[in-house]
Amino acid sequence: MGLSDVGMVRSHNEDCFHIDPALQIFVVADGMGGHSHGEIASRIAVESILDFVRETADHDKTWPFVYDARLQRHSNRLRAAIRIAHDRVLRAIRQDGNLQGMGTTVVGLLLQGGVAAVAHVGDSRAYRLRGDRFELLTQDHTWVNEQVVAGHLSEEQARSHPLKNVVTRALGGDADVVVDVRECEAEEGDLFLLCSDGLTTMLSDAEIRDQLRAVASLDALCSGLVRAANARGGLDNVTVLLARVASEEETV
Ligand code: CA
Repeated sequence: MGLSDVGMVRSHNEDCFHIDPALQIFVVADGMGGHSHGEIASRIAVESILDFVRETADHDKTWPFVYDARLQRHSNRLRAAIRIAHDRVLRAIRQDGNLQGMGTTVVGLLLQGGVAAVAHVGDSRAYRLRGDRFELLTQDHTWVNEQVVAGHLSEEQARSHPLKNVVTRALGGDADVVVDVRECEAEEGDLFLLCSDGLTTMLSDAEIRDQLRAVASLDALCSGLVRAANARGGLDNVTVLLARVASEEETV
């Protein structure tokens, strides 16, 4: 289940998401660039990732990238899909000079056989709620997060820092994008959240966790999160995507 909302301040929504329950692929992208070009970048990224995951569902076509033997095949697929999406965004910029400067973050989840592949570029995030344990699965590629990791800023300082929106990696940015990929267990009952920063800049992790612990449908949980972010001011587009692991074979 996913929901995307323009928020309370912006005039258009540059976020994009897609869910394919048959393929067990879930993607959120948060576009950037003036004149609504962010919308184009995030849509290209999401469509491109879905296309590649579809095309490689049953068999390997010509594998365009190095295969990392430490990771499962579906994790390699997700990483390759994101790299191709990056190339597509760059190509679109080359073909139309007006699109110069557009880019997008992305976070993707691909489930297979009880293993979740989580990959991201930028500051869109993935979390997993298991019982009472709410865990952030991604590390923002932002200047402030790099300062926090290096010990130069506290998390509190980072939240209000004037450069908090500066991402250090994006699709459509540097020619050679580095995609972070990790694998984690997906057990029956796990709830995965993918979201754009319009959620996480408005609500703390604890507030998001408390919302997700409510006994409600995924539909209601998604709208509850969007409502809560908008109630705080909704300064940005908000996109939330929830995937509950029903069994190894089926997640919705
Ligand atoms: Ca955003």
